[in-house]
Amino acid sequence: MPNARFSIDDFIHQPRIAYFSMEIALVNDIPTYSGGLGVLAGDTLRAAADMALPMVAVTLVSRAGYFRQEIDAAGRQVEHPDAWEPSHHASRLDAAVALNLEGRQVWVGGWLYVARSRTGGGIPVLLLDTDLPVNHHQDRDITHYLYGGDEAYRIKQEMVLGVGGVAMLQALGFRVIGYHMNEGHSAFLTLALLRRYAYAPEELRPGESRYDVPRVRDLCVFTTHTPIEAGHDKFAYDRVQQIYGDLLDLATIKLLAGQDRLNMTQLALNLSEFVNGVAKRHAETSRKLFPGYAVHAITNGVHSSTWTNLHFGALYDANVPGWCHEPELLARADRIPDEQIWQAHIECKRDLIDTVQQRTGVALDPDQPILGFARRMTAYKRPEMLFADLERLKAIARKRPFQLVMAGKAHPKDAEGKRLIEALHGHMRELNGIIPMAFLPNYDMATALAMVSGADVWLNTPLRPLEASGTSGMKAAFNGVPQLSVLDGWWLEGCIEGVTGWAIGDDNTNANGGDAAMLYDKLEQVVLPLWYDNRAGWVAVMKGAISKNAAYFNSQRMMRRYATEAYLR
Ligand SMILES: *Cc1c(COP(=O)(O)O)cnc(C)c1O
Repeated sequence: MPNARFSIDDFIHQPRIAYFSMEIALVNDIPTYSGGLGVLAGDTLRAAADMALPMVAVTLVSRAGYFRQEIDAAGRQVEHPDAWEPSHHASRLDAAVALNLEGRQVWVGGWLYVARSRTGGGIPVLLLDTDLPVNHHQDRDITHYLYGGDEAYRIKQEMVLGVGGVAMLQALGFRVIGYHMNEGHSAFLTLALLRRYAYAPEELRPGESRYDVPRVRDLCVFTTHTPIEAGHDKFAYDRVQQIYGDLLDLATIKLLAGQDRLNMTQLALNLSEFVNGVAKRHAETSRKLFPGYAVHAITNGVHSSTWTNLHFGALYDANVPGWCHEPELLARADRIPDEQIWQAHIECKRDLIDTVQQRTGVALDPDQPILGFARRMTAYKRPEMLFADLERLKAIARKRPFQLVMAGKAHPKDAEGKRLIEALHGHMRELNGIIPMAFLPNYDMATALAMVSGADVWLNTPLRPLEASGTSGMKAAFNGVPQLSVLDGWWLEGCIEGVTGWAIGDDNTNANGGDAAMLYDKLEQVVLPLWYDNRAGWVAVMKGAISKNAAYFNSQRMMRRYATEAYLR
């Protein structure tokens, strides 16, 4: 039990920022995350631990995990339960708080996990859990399924997270000096705070609100991640009322969260003094989506040591000491000899080739470049773009051969995402013998690290402007792997053509238009020739990815900005 030597008493003496997230990727074998949002939350806490930033995180225990992905003989995703045992990783909190949901008292207990830094710091993470014998059997699984269930289930989960989380922090004795909502799922916490700081009726003059909105706003920070209206949680008021009972009066909630439906994003926007998007373009998109709100931009980053393969880690330790803690130092990566960069890459690539062989039986050739593509499988990520014209793709590969490694899970209810996985397997059969291709099942943090470090080129083809930030290309940069990507999210800031990687199209490209043709052109005319014909030129781009992008797009830089601009405002 690695976490057993910590107790809550180690953390409550110091005032803290409470960070709320529906999902957090703590370590690879705790399956409490579905994708980028959870990985970002984990990297946030790992960086805070490095920097000794006083934070405490709140999330759901998600005992049933997300799911384990298997691919059947027809190339279809099969979902298996992926339960985990909290007692093997965390210690039980000796506090419980009660909520009133659907007229029943629901007790919320939890677990203490500590996200630890290699430099010794630790951030307490509270994993809320309703699976307690005192609860009605119907309520015991509220915290089981990540993004599972129907609307009522989701409302209850978000109540437990927001309202239960605020109560639990207080019950444990935390002194909270700020609340950071990572996406809108936790926005009910604002209602708990409004109730906590409400004026007594005798303090009020006629017509004045009971609720101290400015005080709550001053405590709250909101990071939005969703650049389209349809992506935001919205709940029917009668459904919410059936569940929450008397949390606040409905007229007040409607003023804050929308007249027609309870919009979690609107609630968070109205009650947060500091609001930000996760890349500069995403903040612009959000300002158009939410006119009248000041939306700042804090571009995401990834955690240095978590996303650097052993081989590059050793190289940086020798040449750029201190890089883990201060990744900015990687700006000096240009001093690392070219042969050592290439050698570290060869070792990462060999590891990936071994992993692919073991897990899929596909044999890849170390002397041909590998294109990597992995992320949640969902329509806007457009994993099929590369296969838009198979004849063209084959013609490119006949001139200069390349290989493909792909991975990604589709949400169990995302029919289009699942179709995409099946289609990719179809392409794999069609390309058999011409373009070696593997699909690694069960994309997780470990698979991600193997892929972003073992590929030669990291590919990203989102439909603009739907990639709010994207982070896997940043992970690739830590391993000297350049990105070839549509200009969206962080890549608008990170791409220096031919220096850190390459753009597919330009910033004026019609999102639905000829992106595939531009992808083929860039691959055929620029990327593959450089790889095959100019090794020194290729290593220069690898170094550009490290010294210009890893040095900047890291979570240490991101957290310094949150600390000074959002938390210490
Ligand atoms: C980094 C990561 C993601 C997010 O990748 P994007 O490029 O932002 O889509 C998703 N899943 C896992 C397991 C990751 O490690």
